[in-house]
Amino acid sequence: MSGHHRTKEYAAFARRMRPLLTATLPAPCVDGCGQPVMVGQRWDIGHIIPGIDEQWNVGPSHVKCNRSAGGSMGAAIVNAKRKRKTQVPRW
Ligand SMILES: [Zn+2]
Repeated sequence: MSGHHRTKEYAAFARRMRPLLTATLPAPCVDGCGQPVMVGQRWDIGHIIPGIDEQWNVGPSHVKCNRSAGGSMGAAIVNAKRKRKTQVPRW
């Protein structure tokens, strides 16, 4: 979980998405564990592409998937991007 997820805007977005995503259950976990998220299970709003808060980019993710694999993968992508930006082009 990043700082982004603690903003008021994200909280409002999550509140808006939850009932819409609940209506789609059971649905595949967006963090790619291969198991569906079932009605009655605890789940988080997971991002397909980290950092984009749009309805097309989010879906249900098991709490344990979202807060372990997905979370660190998102951080790795963000860190890799940051690294790439600071590299000097070789021409
Ligand atoms: Zn999962």
